[in-house]
Amino acid sequence: MTSPTQRSSVAIVGAGIVGLAHAVAALDAGHRVTVIEQDAAARLASVRNFGHVCASVQAGELGELAREALPLWQSLADRAGLEVRRSGTLVVARTAAEEAVLHELIEERAPEGARLVSGAEVGNLLRLDPAAAGGARPRAGALLPRDLTANPRTTAARIAAWIDAHELGEVRFSTTVRSVGTGVVDTSRGRIEADHVIVAAGHLIGRLFPDLAERGEVRECALQMARVRAPHAMGLGPAVLTGTSMLRYGAFAGPAAEALRAELRAARPELLEIDANVMLTQQADGTLLVGDSHVTHDAAPPFLDERWFGILLSEAAAVLGAPGLDVLERWQGVYATSRTQDVLRAMPTPGVTAVSVTTGTGMTVGLALGARTIAAL
Ligand SMILES: Cc1cc2nc3c(=O)[nH]c(=O)nc-3n(C[C@H](O)[C@H](O)[C@H](O)COP(=O)(O)OP(=O)(O)OC[C@H]3O[C@@H](n4cnc5c(N)ncnc54)[C@H](O)[C@@H]3O)c2cc1C
Repeated sequence: MTSPTQRSSVAIVGAGIVGLAHAVAALDAGHRVTVIEQDAAARLASVRNFGHVCASVQAGELGELAREALPLWQSLADRAGLEVRRSGTLVVARTAAEEAVLHELIEERAPEGARLVSGAEVGNLLRLDPAAAGGARPRAGALLPRDLTANPRTTAARIAAWIDAHELGEVRFSTTVRSVGTGVVDTSRGRIEADHVIVAAGHLIGRLFPDLAERGEVRECALQMARVRAPHAMGLGPAVLTGTSMLRYGAFAGPAAEALRAELRAARPELLEIDANVMLTQQADGTLLVGDSHVTHDAAPPFLDERWFGILLSEAAAVLGAPGLDVLERWQGVYATSRTQDVLRAMPTPGVTAVSVTTGTGMTVGLALGARTIAAL
């Protein structure tokens, strides 16, 4: 083991999943780590999401990162006591066009372990009442067994607690970073010196590096989300993606997905109007996290559109063969988005690395990004 004086120090701005991922990787590599978070607890994208580690449907570099992240999640779950389970993902097809996308996924991209399942099997997995399902009865599904579901309400806090309890780690909450330079972080509670600084400020990256955010065309993507009571006893099954999800993730891309988009544009324009990705994750308390809509702004307005909730919730209810869903909570999440890259990685000044996931996949790829950045230091 190296002596304490030989260890380099890493300061990390942001205690969302990306900052925490970097902190864990840095601790594992033997560095001293200080995480600095403006809020008293992480409260932004990393706690407002589905907790879906949806590796199987990512393509390109996101796919590589996602596959690297899966074992890191398992190992961190054990060490930090995270509520993470290998839920798998069930992609539900209810129309012929959606079924065609699933065939294309399995035949041409074949995510590891993936298989097509019948409509009846989808019904069993979701514990649908065959009588109640009626016209919403699924035609087919794709089961993607490798994916994970984390509890987004507890994950960031537990990782932060694990870091803080580590002999080389520290998390300073309620401390705002005002500026970052080579070897130094200026905060609302004084200066912190570090050999390396990593800025993982999510969609707020432009507050510290406006030029970088502008060059990377970083904007805010706002999403409407809800927690609902499961409409029937569903057990603790897979995360569920639906037809609109097939328009979103790289592994579905192809002629069948384009045909589906054209069909939805004609038959369900309201879903495209709100750029819906109707999906849900099942939580241990029997509730479901349901969403979501997408709209990009320079600064996301805080107002939630009740009509949009109507569209999302009625579509989710139809997938579950339920007449409606009992909403327990509603909220808005915001993540960084960009037309020019999936992940913004830059060195705005020597010794400072800025990392922001600009695709809404931080839970899926964040741990691998952290490992890669730290390995490259
Ligand atoms: C509704 C919703 C659903 C999503 N679902 C999924 C999903 O199921 N699967 C998936 O993979 N991804 C999902 N995502 C995307 C994922 O949540 C994000 O990509 C990820 O959380 C980004 O993590 P982060 O750490 O970069 O950002 P954040 O979680 O936003 O954390 C950044 C942190 O930096 C802090 N900070 C910023 N500036 C400063 C400063 N100057 N000083 C100190 N602290 C600062 C902030 O307070 C914040 O805590 C979803 C996102 C949303 C919004």
